[in-house]
Amino acid sequence: MSDGEEDDPCHACGESTTDALSRTVRLSVDRSTIDTQRLCPECFAEWIARYEEEMKNERAAGIDDDPDSEIIVD
Ligand SMILES: [Zn+2]
Repeated sequence: MSDGEEDDPCHACGESTTDALSRTVRLSVDRSTIDTQRLCPECFAEWIARYEEEMKNERAAGIDDDPDSEIIVD
C-alpha cells in the first residue's frame, strides 16, 4: 500500500488510478481553469461523451459556443 501521489483516485468513481492510465481534464473559460478532474479511462470516455452531447444540445438549442471556453486534456 502506497500513498504516492501517482495513485490519486478517479474523481468520478473513486477508484485509484495510476498516472499512466488516468486523464486529467481541465475546463477553462476566459483563460482561467474552472474545473479539473482526474479520471480513469472509463470515466474519461463517459465524460467526453456527455460533454459532446451537451455541446450538441446547446447548438441545437441555438446557444452559441463560448469561444473563450475550452477543454484541455492532459
Ligand atoms: Zn473512474
